[in-house]
Amino acid sequence: MTELNSDPSTETCIFCLISKGQDKNTEVIKENKELVCFRDIVPAAPHHYLVVPKEHIRDCLSLHAGHVDLVKMMAKMGMAVLHDQGISDVKDISLGFHQPPYTSVAHLHLHVLAPASQIYEDMEYKFIPNSYRFVTVNAIAMTTLYAFVWEEHYLEVFSTNEITKRTNE
Ligand SMILES: [Zn+2]
Ligand SMILES: [Zn+2]
Repeated sequence: MTELNSDPSTETCIFCLISKGQDKNTEVIKENKELVCFRDIVPAAPHHYLVVPKEHIRDCLSLHAGHVDLVKMMAKMGMAVLHDQGISDVKDISLGFHQPPYTSVAHLHLHVLAPASQIYEDMEYKFIPNSYRFVTVNAIAMTTLYAFVWEEHYLEVFSTNEITKRTNE
């Protein structure tokens, strides 16, 4: 198994390598100029993705006001991936960052999990919302982002009442 312990050097940082398409073992499932998304190698839920900025940012404590748009883009990509994977229950998802020292890789990554209610029991402690370990992307922001992502896609993909209700508002 790949050693995932932190190395601050961008030359050996596994997430920098993945961002540059240089890790043969990782399938990038979504990508744009700034970000890549791939599956967590140790999934904690049926759907578990990581969204990573191509820029080497150490962790969420390195973020400042100038990163707001980046974090929004990360959340948006996470939502888009969930959408692509057929996840329609937006209330049963979890998006967040681990807080140092509980980070496995020293390169900022947003965890995107669904369904949140099916996070595996032995991993649950790692993803308790807004605990000292795990800080979630604001729930209201997620709902807004989801509506935004959704508008960009085709409405018929969704079939749940919850989503249908939201369109009518
Ligand atoms: Zn890196
Ligand atoms: Zn992590």
